[in-house]
Amino acid sequence: MLKPNAHYADLKDSYLFYNIAQKTKAFTAENPDKPLLRMGIGDVSRPLCDAVISALHEAVEDQATPGRFHGYMPECGAPVLRQTIAAHYARRGVTLSPEEVFVSSGASDELGDILDLFDRDSAALVIEPAYPAYVDANVMAGRRIVHLSSGIENGFLPAPNEDIDADILYICSPNNPTGAVFSREQLQAWIDFANRRGAVILFDAAYEAFIEDDALPHSIFELPGSRNCAIEICSLSKTAGFTGTRLGYTVIPLELERQGMRFNAMWVRNRTTKTNGVSYIIQKGASAVFTEEGQRQIHENIRIYKENARVLMDALDALGIWYCGGRNAPYIWMKCPDGMDSWTFFDKLLREIQVVGTPGEGFGACGEGYFRFSTFASPEDTREAAKRLTTLLSRSENGSRD
Ligand code: PLP
Repeated sequence: MLKPNAHYADLKDSYLFYNIAQKTKAFTAENPDKPLLRMGIGDVSRPLCDAVISALHEAVEDQATPGRFHGYMPECGAPVLRQTIAAHYARRGVTLSPEEVFVSSGASDELGDILDLFDRDSAALVIEPAYPAYVDANVMAGRRIVHLSSGIENGFLPAPNEDIDADILYICSPNNPTGAVFSREQLQAWIDFANRRGAVILFDAAYEAFIEDDALPHSIFELPGSRNCAIEICSLSKTAGFTGTRLGYTVIPLELERQGMRFNAMWVRNRTTKTNGVSYIIQKGASAVFTEEGQRQIHENIRIYKENARVLMDALDALGIWYCGGRNAPYIWMKCPDGMDSWTFFDKLLREIQVVGTPGEGFGACGEGYFRFSTFASPEDTREAAKRLTTLLSRSENGSRD
């Protein structure tokens, strides 16, 4: 008889977003006259920019026109898009060859699929609080997971230590959920650690476009030694509003190898076996993101989210509440006031001011006592949420900055 993959039974219930949905649904059923301000969502609210929309229309016309029609696309991405993305890196001083860039349907797909490259016995390090997919993708594969907690004492940016016994190291910077960003020195310490151990870093750069501090690295490949130990996974989801349009890219340096096996060549083999590439239309839309006009337009949208961040940060500053993120990331990670646990704080905000955020405990045990706000809501909702938060928390004895 066929045996299922028994590791699925090891998955913990993904109760975080389910619980939030249940609680908000129940509240709305009881209080239909009280609309919610949703500050928890990790999805964008701004539509695609004009440059992308024009390119998409043009691509649709191509598909309707003999001689311009495209059938199957190359599995690893259209050469012109791979070239365009490599040129985008070059503008930041990172030299890549187009064959090192793989076009994907998004970072989630890649974060799961890329595990095909590694032995099942290799252990995965997850720095917590973390984006839940890292743990689940490895549980499904039956891998041992090493959890590394972070906290207020290291600004949620822990350093490596020689006791960490793992081979696949997930680093997400700017981070979801904390919004914290590794400095060059902090990231270098992880690169050096990975090279000493022969480990591979999976660098999740889904939020790099939100970095505004010039000193912070957008790409791990800005740092020496990274080409021998890192794979970078990127996405246009938050950068350019592609959450529903779907396009990402993954960088695997040609020289990255372990035991004589090159991961770039292995990934070519994987993609040519397991995919038939990303749609022509979407790749053409994505190419427009990297034009001068496209970059100007996507940054105009990012500026709106950043203004939302500013409104929330100003409110927390005025309340004297500790937080990180916001400046270089679309998430703000705040300490719950009065030592409240994160679900109690969630319930309080829902019941008293109809603001919905995300309890930190859902991102790992060390997220208990913290709360995530996303900055992707509309400016109107964000301003109203900040105002209500200020009124509510200035009435209570909130925790001081520590
Ligand atoms: N990585 C992180 C850290 C994310 O927060 C997300 C989405 O929220 C993703 C990856 C997935 O991005 P995509 O939409 O490209 O699958």
